[in-house]
Amino acid sequence: MNTTLLDGKQLATALESELIGTIQDLSAKVGRPPGLAVIMVGDNPASAAYVRNKERACERVGIVSFSSHLPAGVTQSELELLIDQLNNDPQVDGILLQLPVPPHLDDRTLLYKIAPDKDVDGLHPENLGRLVRGEPGLQSCTPAGVMRLLDANGIYVAGLSAVVVGRSILVGKPLSLMLLAANATVTMAHSHTHDLSSVTRAADLVIAAVGKPNLINAGMIRPGAIVVDVGINRIEGAAGKSILIGDVDFQALQGVASFLTPVPGGVGPMTVAMLLHNTVWSYRARHGLL
Ligand code: NAD
Repeated sequence: MNTTLLDGKQLATALESELIGTIQDLSAKVGRPPGLAVIMVGDNPASAAYVRNKERACERVGIVSFSSHLPAGVTQSELELLIDQLNNDPQVDGILLQLPVPPHLDDRTLLYKIAPDKDVDGLHPENLGRLVRGEPGLQSCTPAGVMRLLDANGIYVAGLSAVVVGRSILVGKPLSLMLLAANATVTMAHSHTHDLSSVTRAADLVIAAVGKPNLINAGMIRPGAIVVDVGINRIEGAAGKSILIGDVDFQALQGVASFLTPVPGGVGPMTVAMLLHNTVWSYRARHGLL
């Protein structure tokens, strides 16, 4: 079995190139470029790296960043006030609250406060409701990135039996709904699933979004199945150097899966590409240019 890698980095670069032209054309019509506000609280190094990545990507395509990096001690009401200001700022098309926030803050209330038409992470109940109803709207970036990666590689999920491992509101749940909307037969597996192997072995498409290194091994995959690895786990590699790996045993799946995403370079870059896409979608929608 030849395993084809699903190269998210390459696809994300191609999507960025398309966006550059689109943004130039739209900016000429609207009179300003799209704007994205990223709110980060505290100095979690992983979050800081993700935010830096997002800001650089905005810069590459011509989206203006309005970033707020706030101290870990910021209060709930200060943050709510900031979100109100960004909701009312006509230069800002998208607002993203980088998660996790420190435990004294109520992230659910903060996410609900973001105006649904600026909710580029697709986490507001109005946007999640649209997803459940199969209506257009802002959709969560990582699952949307997975769907785009499959589609761009000619993988049509209609009629396939798909297993999503992980049921978070950020990845697993919205991804299951997107697969369902694309006519896959969807099973959601999670930490209470009995005999995960027999569930995954029955699938044509397995997507792992758990956060456990090498949870999915070769014995859990039917030869020829498609495997997408959303997981990002930092572990100590050879010579004590820290490395990133996914939830799937990448080496063991070579020669077993028909298609496989690498980590890094698979779903991660697609998440950022979809954030840019969502910001431009929101900008268009707000100017009647969809
Ligand atoms: P989460 O912790 O919110 O959810 C994990 C899910 O895994 C839960 O639903 C839980 O039921 C399930 N689970 C836990 N143990 C399990 C087991 N043994 N068997 C089956 N299911 C089990 O995590 P999340 O936010 O959904 O993120 C999942 C992973 O994806 C993490 O590694 C995260 O870093 C990564 N992630 C990657 C991107 C990206 O851009 N590539 C974006 C978001 C999250």
